[in-house]
Amino acid sequence: MYIKSKSLLLSFLVLFVLNSSSLASQLTSQKINQVIKEAYNKYKGDMGGKNADYIDALSVVDSKIFGITFVDVDGNVYEIGDTKKVVSIQSISKVFTAALVMSEKGAKFVQNKIGVNATGLAFNSIIAIEQHGGSALNPFVNAGAIQSTSWVGAKDSKERWMKIKANMSAFAGRDLKLNKDVYTSEVNDNKRNQAISKLLDAYGRMGSDPLEATTVYTKQCSLNVSAHDLAIMGATLANHGKNPATNAQIIDSKYTPKIMAIMATAGLYDNAGDWLYDTGAPAKSGVGGGILAVIPGKFGIGIVSPPLDSYGNSVRAQLAAKYIIEKLGLNPLAQ
Ligand code: GLU
Repeated sequence: MYIKSKSLLLSFLVLFVLNSSSLASQLTSQKINQVIKEAYNKYKGDMGGKNADYIDALSVVDSKIFGITFVDVDGNVYEIGDTKKVVSIQSISKVFTAALVMSEKGAKFVQNKIGVNATGLAFNSIIAIEQHGGSALNPFVNAGAIQSTSWVGAKDSKERWMKIKANMSAFAGRDLKLNKDVYTSEVNDNKRNQAISKLLDAYGRMGSDPLEATTVYTKQCSLNVSAHDLAIMGATLANHGKNPATNAQIIDSKYTPKIMAIMATAGLYDNAGDWLYDTGAPAKSGVGGGILAVIPGKFGIGIVSPPLDSYGNSVRAQLAAKYIIEKLGLNPLAQ
């Protein structure tokens, strides 16, 4: 009897120690909110960088907007600042249209037809296409993104646009709206992207008329999103394709590791290597000032702040994300 109760006591003790150590390694919402607040206060006054101005309408967006949102895979939201103020999604849209093409045509199609390697050259480079025999190299440079848009199965431009918009809205869990000023400003000045699409067409790489695809691509870049939206979209990727806010399965879970792999390789323009080195997190930035990052299996992160560095990445969004990921021990490569 004595021996029995002693061993029972021991098992209770072991259980207690195991339990408390796993609790200690868990993040409390209080801790997450505290670190997000620290980052916000630390970088709020940092007005380094400047708004993109190669698209007129982006130069007049309020540079002071600064919002940070984290959404975990259970749908809990942690946020501070201007998290509901919207900016155009720009390049971050490339993630979701590539995901749509992957869903329709498979992971091999994206790898073979568009590519999944870094270009090592600017996001709108024409030389990169020529150097690689007509390959865009990946769906996150303009060439690969316009290609993705062209490969979304549709009978015409209108249907292509509706599908792309509906897909991004499903990732965000709400109906995303077009920023008409940004769209009008860019669509009247997108000759370089038109040239890229024509060149890709000459190499037999486009799925639809090149100029039509470029127009739809420009529209997809002009959808408005907030830091909150970006975090939900990221949390959907973190949660194996299931939107934690709506519980809808948006993309097959077999594709999310593929999408995140391209984000890790080519998410932050020519600075993707430095970003991954510092954070370990798959991410995508856009010249509207947003950054979406994913901590697989844990969080989606959305940060918006329009002023950009020389690579085209939001200055404050990078600083805040790096600070929070480090402080909360979220680097996925360190798990
Ligand atoms: N619409 C922009 C362009 O095609 C997107 C660029 C970006 O965010 O990198 O130039």
